[in-house]
Amino acid sequence: MDKNGKNLDDLQDLNRSSVIRHLAMHEGCSRVELAKVTGLKQASITKIMRALVENGVVAETGFTEGLKGRRSIGLSLNYSKYMVIGVKVAWERLSIGVFDLCGRVYGDIFTCSFDYLDLANAESAVALIAQYVEKFKARHPGVIAVGVAAPGPLHRGEGSVYVTADGREGRVYFPFLKKIRERVALPVVIDHDANAGALGYWWFRTNCDARMALLYLLASEGIGGGVVSKGQIITGQRGHSAEMGHMIVEFGGRKCVCGGRGCLDAYASSIAVEKRAHRVLPEHPGSALAGKGRVGVADVFSAMRRGDEVAVGLVREAGVHMGRGFASLIPIFDPDLIVIGDLMAYGGDVLLAGIDEVLGRSLSRFYKKPRIVLADPGDDLVLLGSAAIAIDYAYSHPTELLMPGVS
Ligand SMILES: [Zn+2]
Repeated sequence: MDKNGKNLDDLQDLNRSSVIRHLAMHEGCSRVELAKVTGLKQASITKIMRALVENGVVAETGFTEGLKGRRSIGLSLNYSKYMVIGVKVAWERLSIGVFDLCGRVYGDIFTCSFDYLDLANAESAVALIAQYVEKFKARHPGVIAVGVAAPGPLHRGEGSVYVTADGREGRVYFPFLKKIRERVALPVVIDHDANAGALGYWWFRTNCDARMALLYLLASEGIGGGVVSKGQIITGQRGHSAEMGHMIVEFGGRKCVCGGRGCLDAYASSIAVEKRAHRVLPEHPGSALAGKGRVGVADVFSAMRRGDEVAVGLVREAGVHMGRGFASLIPIFDPDLIVIGDLMAYGGDVLLAGIDEVLGRSLSRFYKKPRIVLADPGDDLVLLGSAAIAIDYAYSHPTELLMPGVS
């Protein structure tokens, strides 16, 4: 059961957290501005800032133009002091890197491929994560936390991932978070890969507008989603909120990997596009994709860019189904921005045209069409997001992580 009472220590941590979050988004702001936006009294801000400055969490950056033209001392988080480790666990690959609080990578990203995330590979992944955390910690003493982005279904509370067992037949929950915590002497936090991607985009690819509602579609071999509202991920009870891949876009339609029918995943994932290509190509012998044997989604995008009608139709159709999904999601989340990331973002303007086709005729006039952007498919937002969830945790627990040993 969640406890919502606050002891004095909790309140102090909470107030420090509010100040730090505002500073992270408003570099160079003053004590007067902090008092104004947090609602804390000037005396409280002075006390909080004294502890943060004395412990090297915050640095004074010199005089700046303050409110009403008055000169005041600018403040900044001590970005060079802290780092986090981001870990992305995907079904066939593990990536680990060191990031600073601005989301910049330090050194090389370690990557390792495996056949599939079954029980044995999950155990090996934990051992590798522990090994690299130790290695990175020795190289970067400022590392304060580890963030893990894992594929769903993920039991967010327990940090368990639903991995395969007995070949690919059965599935069991593997206690990823517990196993990593047993082997790593740092705070470790875990979240769903799409949630991580959403948070990573909000922190590092927008201007962290706390009022912004952002909807992120992780459109790869499968489809996931994450929503960030007021700077926080919307999670639901078990962390399964915004499982956009499994919303119904075609009632009673194609069978989905989840066992349901008509899910977005079965229409707009890269695997769905490949399956559809194989289905329609025999009817289009003139297509650049015909007679190629196995057609991958990269072939479809390549033919699309050369203007092949079948390829354009396949990508546009995926966009139409995404548009149907968005038409349902917009009234629920009222997002300002929709970001489509990963493989399907290679669909470019053709994909966007499919989405627009639906939104142009389906959206109620009560809702404003949000800005829809494609993330650079080369930008690993999930790995960046794994760092973001560690940073977010540090900003929520500043006394423990940023100023250990201080009460
Ligand atoms: Zn499904």
